[in-house]
Amino acid sequence: MPAHRTRTPRRVFALAAVTALLTTTGAGIASAAPEARPTPKSPVAVGYGGAVSSIDADATAIGTKVLREGGNAVDAAVAVAAALGVTDPFSAGIGGGGFFVYYDAKTGRVHTLDGRETAPSAANADLFVENGKAIPFADAVTSGLSVGVPGTPATWQQALDKWGTRSFAQSIRPAEQLARKGFSVDRTFHDQVANNAGRFAAFPSTRSLYLPGGAPPVVGTTFRNPDLADTYAQLAKQGTGALYHGPIGADVAKTVQRPPVDPASKLNVRPGKLSTSDLAAYRAIERDPTHTRYQGLDVYGMPAPSSGGLTVGEALNILENFDLKKASKADYLQYFLESTRFAFADRNRWIGDPATVDVPARELLSRRFADSRACLISKDKAATSPVAPADPRHPEKCAAGTTGAPTPYEGENTTHLTVADRWGNVVAYTLTIEQEGGSGIVVPGRGFLLNNELTDFSFTPVTPGVPDPNLPGAGKRPRSSMAPTILLREGRPFFATGSPGGASIITTVLQVILGRVDRGLSLEDAIAAPRASQRNSAQAQVEQGFLDQPETAALKARGQGFSDAPAEIGASTGVERLRDGRWIAAAEPVRRGVGSAQVVFPWRWPGER
Ligand code: GLU
Repeated sequence: MPAHRTRTPRRVFALAAVTALLTTTGAGIASAAPEARPTPKSPVAVGYGGAVSSIDADATAIGTKVLREGGNAVDAAVAVAAALGVTDPFSAGIGGGGFFVYYDAKTGRVHTLDGRETAPSAANADLFVENGKAIPFADAVTSGLSVGVPGTPATWQQALDKWGTRSFAQSIRPAEQLARKGFSVDRTFHDQVANNAGRFAAFPSTRSLYLPGGAPPVVGTTFRNPDLADTYAQLAKQGTGALYHGPIGADVAKTVQRPPVDPASKLNVRPGKLSTSDLAAYRAIERDPTHTRYQGLDVYGMPAPSSGGLTVGEALNILENFDLKKASKADYLQYFLESTRFAFADRNRWIGDPATVDVPARELLSRRFADSRACLISKDKAATSPVAPADPRHPEKCAAGTTGAPTPYEGENTTHLTVADRWGNVVAYTLTIEQEGGSGIVVPGRGFLLNNELTDFSFTPVTPGVPDPNLPGAGKRPRSSMAPTILLREGRPFFATGSPGGASIITTVLQVILGRVDRGLSLEDAIAAPRASQRNSAQAQVEQGFLDQPETAALKARGQGFSDAPAEIGASTGVERLRDGRWIAAAEPVRRGVGSAQVVFPWRWPGER
């Protein structure tokens, strides 16, 4: 059923209430239900009792309410994530996957959950190859072929079972109500539909939900998703088995195997082979976090199949060879860009799903290996990309290697949330459906989009003749860049952060850490800072704000290349524990329409900014 209705001016509510019984509730028709007003939002909050930061005001408010009512950080994180599946559905939802990092205040330990989507058992290395050639990336994006088994519901269930205090049903109930009552459409939501309107229109199930009356929902109107509300209600009642062993899963498999494309569409939508037995075999996996010591801090992140923790960690280890605190801004940026140039060469060569690939994780994070890479970095001259990877098992000081390859393209959309509670537990959770809008396919009658996460695999080996750890395989998890990260100081939480942005997640998270730890920025300023992302290519991806900095000319003179098409990079969130026990919640102040940060009891000392 179309979910969107036009705004009803408040003064006509009474009249609307009378006539409502006589009207249908389709797209563009005023209904009696009160219109949702935009939930106020601010990108920074300071105070006690716990903190929540996400890209969306309704989701953050739901999380804060859970904390206020006595839930812990895990309960709140799941509630926020479920709400983002409603309000930020082009980035996240139960049709996708993600990575969950949790600091447990009672034990002082950090845990992670890998809720990555998996390839069906029928997949092999040629998943995206036809007639000996890789299919066009855009064809793979909108297809059943690229849909992996969703990991998000299993992640929520496991996180709650292991560390939560509330039930799965309780945790997703607020999101169910949000989907049913609706929320106010903002510019970002509108634009994300508009960006995808061509392919969304090809699927009647997607079209009727997101293009009511043939156009994206109008900013300021109320958007409702009753099908998703019903799906959440069913999950609440029957548990995640409704997806992994039941009727929701049957609908997912059917949709992948026979994508419900409009026969009039010209899109060539390839089917996939994901089956109900693939769903039944799915598990979210608890893994040991990556650990790096940096500037006396303990940095915990996500291990393979994400490359997030290992690549951020390798770059930090490389950077410990330089004094970033004392460096001029131009020197600091030079070291930052060079560190990820080399770390990405190693990431691309060595990191894949550890179930099928021998990932040298410990060696990638060894100090000796980092020193052997730092030795190749010059303050005055950028290295020429693609630089070659090195073998972390046999680090050779300053060995440049021979064959390099730039990082392949990865989609850029996901969402990151960060939560802390009054007991000092912290969650950093990044979740995604991969591309903005995922596969573009809404499961008919279910109200959620399917991911296209399998496009994160290399379609063919990145460097011919060199083993690629990230080729598709049966039941394999594609390599991710998601980097939810928690930093401890003297064994207690200092701050936690993460970001969307495909492969640029890694450079963004690194930049936030460096900004906060080395460059004297507050967490909110570190999140706001202009970005560049060097991933072993001749030109770094860059934002206009970065190019506008006076240091950029000096960086260019040292041989740094920057993209001619500046674009927005990342929209981070974070929380930080202050020494007086308060929390700062910080969200993106400009990008993606501004994030939303809240604390349970706001408190600033008189005169504090
Ligand atoms: N598919 C990406 C990854 O797993 C996430 C997409 C994004 O962050 O924008 O790394």
